[in-house]
Parts: sequence; structure tokens; C-alpha cells
Amino acid sequence: MLGATERSVLADRLAVVEARIAAACVRAGRPRDSVTLVAVTKYTSLDVAATLLDLGVLDLGESRPQALWERAVALPAARWHLIGHLQRNKVERTLPLTQLIHSVDSRRLLDAIEAEGRPCSVLLEFNISGEAQKHGFVSDDVPALVGAIHELKNVRVRGLMGMAAIAEDPEASRPAFAALRHLRDRLHTGLDDAQSLVHLSMGMSQDFEVAIEEGATLVRVGSTLVEGLV
Ligand SMILES: *Cc1c(COP(=O)(O)O)cnc(C)c1O
Repeated sequence: MLGATERSVLADRLAVVEARIAAACVRAGRPRDSVTLVAVTKYTSLDVAATLLDLGVLDLGESRPQALWERAVALPAARWHLIGHLQRNKVERTLPLTQLIHSVDSRRLLDAIEAEGRPCSVLLEFNISGEAQKHGFVSDDVPALVGAIHELKNVRVRGLMGMAAIAEDPEASRPAFAALRHLRDRLHTGLDDAQSLVHLSMGMSQDFEVAIEEGATLVRVGSTLVEGLV
């Protein structure tokens, strides 16, 4: 566990983030419980993750599968979210430890997860920033994805995930977030209710309020909570 001073810094930052989430929900006319805070612990120690959990943050995110494995074993009471790229040879080990994989970014990965034969929930990552180096599906993939989702027996596709390009001004992220919502709506029209795509995972420290205004149900917030804590 963290020392008392660092714990109180973390508690104060968490209160600020919570207040900003609540205010964004009010602006968007959405209930507070329609948005889940996923605290991203990748920059920081297990102690910080444990303290977040102790402060009541049940959803924790890691971007590297190996780090998630270690932390999920150490803190099994948390719901662990994988938010970074997953290699197919790490699927088997990752699935039992993960509440939700946000970062399914290719058909090959989706097929590999399905082939594990166990029920699990995933999000499809779309490249909404237009940056070539980013992973993810693109708009042209939507028709084929509708067909693919229909065939899944084990994997439940619960929604989409996306990242806006890094920018100073959070408003710059708004068009990308709106685009992700539209992609979700397009996919949804091809599917039946049992496979409903309820989640939009979008918004990070820089732009989570704008993301909530655009319909985010999961915000992935790291640095503004944990910066400088070890
Ligand atoms: C690191 C990371 C975050 C958190 O970013 P911050 O800007 O530190 O809040 C969110 N999503 C993904 C996919 C990440 O890799």
C-alpha cells in the first residue's frame, strides 16, 4: 500500500476526476452510472493500483498483457481491462484474467479469441485518428464485421474502442468520438439484440469529458490520476 501522503494525493485526484465525470454526465443529460471509470495503471506500481482499488475504483486497465497477468493475479478483486495490443500467442493466458478486452484490432485476433472456446467479452478497436501507425479496424471493415459477429459463439462483442489523435485541445477529439459512435450505430443495425453493442470505450486524461458528451460508456484515465506516484 502507499504511504498516507501519496494515498491522500490519489484520493484527491480521484475526487476531481469523479466530479469532472459527473459534470460531463449532467451536460450530456446522461445518468452518472452510464459511465465507468477505468483507471489505467500502466505507468505506475502495483501499490498504486492496490490503493485505487481500496479507494473504490474496481475497474483497472493495463496496456501490456504480461503486466495485466501479474497484476490480475496480485489483485483478483479488481475487474481487469486489457486496453493495449494483444498478440495471438498471449490470448489463452489473458482471457481468464480479463473482464473486457478493449483492443481487438483484427479479424485474426477475433478468430483466435473465438477459438479458445470460452465465453468472453470484447470491444472492437477502430482506428479513428486516421494515423497509419495506429492499430484497428476502419469504416470499410463494417460489413464484413457484421457477418463475423453473427458467426461468433463464444465471444460477445460488447462495443467499440477508439483513440483520438493527441492534441492540446480536447475539442479536437470530438469528431473522432462522434465517428466511433456512428460506426457503432452502423454495426448495430446489422445485428440482433442479443449481440448488442452497448459500449463505447473512448476518452483518456486529455479528453474524457468530451468523450462522455459524445456517448462514452468507458473512459480510460491514467496520467491525470497517477502521474508522479510510484
Ligand atoms: C495509456 C492509455 C490510456 C490512458 O492514457 P492517459 O492519457 O494517461 O489517461 C488510455 N487508453 C489507452 C489505450 C492507453 O494505452
